[in-house]
Amino acid sequence: MRRHRNVKIVATLGPASSSKEMIRTLHEAGADVFRLNMSHGGHEDVAARHRAIREVEAELGSPIGILADLQGPKLRVGVFGGEGAFDLQVGAPFRLDLDAAPGDATRVQLPHKEIFEALEPGSSLLVNDGKIRLRVQECGPDFANCVVVVGGTISNRKGVNVPDVVLPLAALSEKDRRDLEFVCELGVDWLALSFVQRAADVEEARALARGRASILSKIEKPAAVNDFDGILAVSDGIMVARGDLGVELPVQNVPPIQKRLVRKCRAAAKPVIVATQMLESMIESPVPTRAEVSDVATAIYEGADAIMLSAESAAGQYPREAVSTMDAVAREVESDPTYTQIIEASRTVSRKTVADGIVAAAREIAEATDVKAIACFSESGTTALLVARERPRVPIIALTSIEKTARRLCLSWGINCVIADPVDRFKKAVLAAIHAAVGQGFADPTDRIVVTAGVPFNTPGSTNILRVAPCQERLVYEGEPE
Ligand code: ATP
Ligand code: MG
Ligand code: MG
Repeated sequence: MRRHRNVKIVATLGPASSSKEMIRTLHEAGADVFRLNMSHGGHEDVAARHRAIREVEAELGSPIGILADLQGPKLRVGVFGGEGAFDLQVGAPFRLDLDAAPGDATRVQLPHKEIFEALEPGSSLLVNDGKIRLRVQECGPDFANCVVVVGGTISNRKGVNVPDVVLPLAALSEKDRRDLEFVCELGVDWLALSFVQRAADVEEARALARGRASILSKIEKPAAVNDFDGILAVSDGIMVARGDLGVELPVQNVPPIQKRLVRKCRAAAKPVIVATQMLESMIESPVPTRAEVSDVATAIYEGADAIMLSAESAAGQYPREAVSTMDAVAREVESDPTYTQIIEASRTVSRKTVADGIVAAAREIAEATDVKAIACFSESGTTALLVARERPRVPIIALTSIEKTARRLCLSWGINCVIADPVDRFKKAVLAAIHAAVGQGFADPTDRIVVTAGVPFNTPGSTNILRVAPCQERLVYEGEPE
């Protein structure tokens, strides 16, 4: 589906957005990638959402990315009785224990024995991305009696952070391993790893995924920020997971970290998502706050590949409005000349390979002439990512015969993915590129486009040809023998 913006939109699916109709509505409104959060809902729910996305994809004929987000060693409370949510009032007592019985306004399960062992009277517990604060008054090996310091609504499986206590946690729990195998077999394009602390965590997941999905590291721990270069080197993509990051570190540290990470990812030609609380008030309101609009705009001005909706689309009352708000903000920002200036001023010098040279030349031609698009043949997706790193002023069309590549590239800035038959000659590649560019409305038959490819075909990373092709050529070659 043709988009009129470069930044991509990721929408988390949940109870508010699981029907096929809603998934189609969100995709049409602008969602390029859907996120399945493995922390909420069982395998059957995940499989049903996955099936619905693939059906919508087949009906609309354009690739859609699916990202499965593994819970990781995240601490969460258990479930509540009744409506599943209770208000905690400041000063009220609240007990955490190991009892699986449904919780209420006075207690809930915290199914992590190791926390109780590490807690001490006076320790703080933060719930739901730090919104609720509890202080421990009395504790034992299987309980903690707390007092509510900052109140709010607590509900099923909300996350818990214990900032002043160091917990010995493995990168992938048993549940994560089961979930990983399940979603890889189902066929997801991206696997997001929560609470990555070191490059070895990423390598462990990659070994288990065995090439079935690309690996995206969520940066939400101080350790991951400190070892970011090492983690980026072994990841295929990054998420700036601001929810937990802003609890684990002082909240004012998050914006500069976001800026730095976004720049590093672009320099490495790897997609980066800015996530959490982007349009938080739209969970309950059809219009965002000015500050939220500004936050979304900032991520786009910074050059992020994708912006993400969490509860807004998963559990909010206005999922479609949240997606269309992001789409509208993106279109406005990207038509601002200041945006182009910022994006072009923050371009990094590329490595000196032939492919780097070709994509830089393609971008320069797009700046200097009236070409309408840059089309690249990219089976593995590597060349398309290099073109995206250049952040050219015209749309990027990535042609690939591999469905998986097309779906994975849905997360990357500016890339319009088209599945095309494999080609064995450059002339055919040019014709296929023109066909896609004209067919999808990126160029008129009187326009010209830039086409890049690598010959011989079928050698990954071999991009070595650039041609400026008039779209008329399609007519010239039509009917010609092979
Ligand atoms: P994470 O730390 O991985 O972001 P989270 O709990 O913050 O976990 P999000 O997906 O960011 O989860 O936020 C969505 C919120 O919507 C959840 O906290 C939860 O209250 C609600 N929700 C309910 N069911 C689902 C679901 N199936 N998928 C996602 N969110 C759900
Ligand atoms: Mg998180
Ligand atoms: Mg979240």
